[in-house]
Amino acid sequence: MELNSRAIGLLIGLLVSVITTAFLFLIDGINNTILLTAFFLSLSSTYILVWLVLEFLFFRHIDNISEGFDKINNTESQITDGLSNGTLLNPLKKINKEIFSYAENKQREIAELKKMEIFRREFMADVSHELKTPIFAAQGFVHTLLDGAIEDKKVRSKFLKKAAKSLDGLDILVHDLLTLSQIETGEIKMHIVPFNLIRTVEDVFDQLENKAIKKDIAFSYQKKEDLYVLGDQRRMYQVFLNLVSNAIKYTNKKGEVTIHFDEKDDHIATTVKDTGDGIPDKDINRIFERFYRVDKSRSKEKGGTGLGLAIVKHILEGHNTKMEVTSEVGVGSSFTFSLQKAKDRPIEEDEELYDE
Ligand code: ADP
Repeated sequence: MELNSRAIGLLIGLLVSVITTAFLFLIDGINNTILLTAFFLSLSSTYILVWLVLEFLFFRHIDNISEGFDKINNTESQITDGLSNGTLLNPLKKINKEIFSYAENKQREIAELKKMEIFRREFMADVSHELKTPIFAAQGFVHTLLDGAIEDKKVRSKFLKKAAKSLDGLDILVHDLLTLSQIETGEIKMHIVPFNLIRTVEDVFDQLENKAIKKDIAFSYQKKEDLYVLGDQRRMYQVFLNLVSNAIKYTNKKGEVTIHFDEKDDHIATTVKDTGDGIPDKDINRIFERFYRVDKSRSKEKGGTGLGLAIVKHILEGHNTKMEVTSEVGVGSSFTFSLQKAKDRPIEEDEELYDE
């Protein structure tokens, strides 16, 4: 039975009127008309009294409290939705469930905040450590020069070059940190338009060719006709730059770095493959974390900031896609991601084609 103020009023009213009538019945000289009148009078007055008390002093306040919880619980769980129509259950049960769901939400929020706080502390410690290393190195070289090494021409130029290298590393690190934080805070929005994947890869090759030549690395990509995909061309350029420069960085002399395209019905999968160091299985899932390096000293010695793949991951997430990595230590690694094919070509590109 539905338990509301009317039902409770009727029940108590019936109880009181039955007891009152029974007492009157025991008294001599009271006829049936008086008994009946007493019964209905006590029933109606008790009913109205109980109803008024419950409705205005009790249920209405409970409803108000419940509405308050509904507003606070903006997660609006199904329990809350089911209860807020106010006709289903005992209002005390209702408020009990509201408090329970509110406490559960708060518990979840507190756990999330604690996690974020730990993450923030770790991140601050990592950033400070990463910044400290190149600053200390440059500081050391400059002080040694000031302490007299500046007189020796050979030492002077060697130390200045080393200080400059440390400061260049610092510049790259700060730049990567800024990019990462801008992507995370949504300051950098992905500008998704059709663009030519092949041209982007060519630009990356032009930029990194010298590094590959220096290490005698065979550097190639599968030549194809123009491939148009949907994405933010500038950000995808950054993705290729990070992947290919990693491939060159972590591949020994005379190795190979290649890019393949696999055309499917509605998307194009691109793979950057190298014959480098490879990544141990236990590290594969962690290389996209900020500052995670398989071999810390090797990465730093090669000028790595430990942020390249974290940036790649965020950019790909902005394109609703993700990276797949396969790797074998001593054999090499493959990084594969897909982009949606573009149905249209960019207007400027079409014009160029017509001009030719
Ligand atoms: P880093 O600046 O150190 O290169 P990344 O975020 O780009 O930072 O990469 C994280 C780590 O993943 C690297 O330190 C390296 O250990 C590993 N890694 C990335 N790419 C490759 C690759 N192509 N071959 C082997 N290891 C790689």
